[in-house]
Amino acid sequence: MKTRIAIIGAGLSGLTCAWYLKESEQYDITIFESSGRAGGKLQTELLNGFQFDRGFQVLLPAYPETKRILDYDKLQLQRFHKGSLIFKNHKQIPFYDPENGLSALVKTVLYGPGSLIDKFILLKLKYTLSHLSVEHIFQRSTKMSSLEYLRSLGFSERIIADFWIPFYQGVFLENTLETDSKMLQFTFKMFAEAGAALPKEGMEAIPKQLIAAIGSDRIRYHAKVLAYNATSVSTSEGKTEIFDKVVVAYNCSKEVKYHTVTNKYFEADKIPIHTKHVILNANKNRVINNVVFISHVAPNYALNGKQLISVSANGIHPDSEAFLADLTSLFGKEVATWKLVKSYLIQEALPIIDFQNKYTSAATDGIYYCGDHLIQASINGAMESGRRTAEEIIRVDVL
Ligand SMILES: Cc1cc2nc3c(=O)[nH]c(=O)nc-3n(C[C@H](O)[C@H](O)[C@H](O)COP(=O)(O)OP(=O)(O)OC[C@H]3O[C@@H](n4cnc5c(N)ncnc54)[C@H](O)[C@@H]3O)c2cc1C
Repeated sequence: MKTRIAIIGAGLSGLTCAWYLKESEQYDITIFESSGRAGGKLQTELLNGFQFDRGFQVLLPAYPETKRILDYDKLQLQRFHKGSLIFKNHKQIPFYDPENGLSALVKTVLYGPGSLIDKFILLKLKYTLSHLSVEHIFQRSTKMSSLEYLRSLGFSERIIADFWIPFYQGVFLENTLETDSKMLQFTFKMFAEAGAALPKEGMEAIPKQLIAAIGSDRIRYHAKVLAYNATSVSTSEGKTEIFDKVVVAYNCSKEVKYHTVTNKYFEADKIPIHTKHVILNANKNRVINNVVFISHVAPNYALNGKQLISVSANGIHPDSEAFLADLTSLFGKEVATWKLVKSYLIQEALPIIDFQNKYTSAATDGIYYCGDHLIQASINGAMESGRRTAEEIIRVDVL
């Protein structure tokens, strides 16, 4: 007889757990999903020829967990150029990875942010991280904020203000870089190794690929779980069902706090600069963090002859005035011709993680737990927790 497993939540962690369990014939898996679609925080809406990811997100192809199971060729990854283009006081400051070619290197050395010493420290950091394993980074017990860490490495306040803060505001979705330095080390290593990318058909293509392997008939949509224990699940469908094991793959704790973000998409007939770099806003008193000419990086995001521009700001900004003021200060009068086509106000974007609490995939009171909020706020974290939960279930069953 097969072991019946209930997984609550069809986000990346739950789907990844199902993906690994599916590898073994011995499990009969049911995934309960409260909403009408799987993928959780990875959603792509199609509207009027545009693809809108629900909140600007990127896949870092160097993530160990995505490399393990995703088929990148099938995702048809559309790559950003490595590095950033920084806007400050009406100037454009190039900060390109030398891998973009000799001219990128020369521009960065001559006109990039910070001093030559800063660039040397940066290269040293890149080299050091390339020799550290991801496990080693997360196993360190020291607790230090990312800002303290950058200062401890000797970076000048200028490069911290012009590059590190604007860049990591967009990665951590918080403005003061209080996020644990392990996350900075991990993500910087990932960016340095393989940059950032978008699947051709949007970020939701990632969970869709997992669902294709698991079998969509395994997912019960509009089935909100109202109560569970180690062997039963009661849903909004009014049923209580019995299982051998229960995995909770969503955040059921009210104690987890989240960073919030606003992402607005604009359509335009043309873009002001043909760059595949993320544009960072380093102006003082800024509201928006970054701008991405997303359909220039991934043309499928606008199949209607228009250009799609993604603009992000930390916090919740229902109005667009401050966005437009910042955009005009960056790109001038042509912003008046851009049209707001989508706005996402995301209250629960990235969970705030205390890395002193080590994630364990072992069952608590007979129930297994996974999800980004327990381990690391990223696609990689969600998938790692799902994999480790599946491995623990299989390990216990073999004993
Ligand atoms: C705006 C934004 C930007 C981000 N940027 C990046 C990025 O650039 N790179 C990166 O690596 N990561 C990024 N992330 C993080 C990444 O998307 C998440 O870490 C990951 O998708 C979380 O997956 P999860 O399975 O842990 O949780 P979730 O995606 O939250 O999945 C939980 C699922 O459980 C369901 N559920 C909840 N309650 C119940 C219930 N009672 N019964 C049944 N089902 C239930 C939910 O509907 C959902 O489908 C970003 C996230 C956001 C929101």
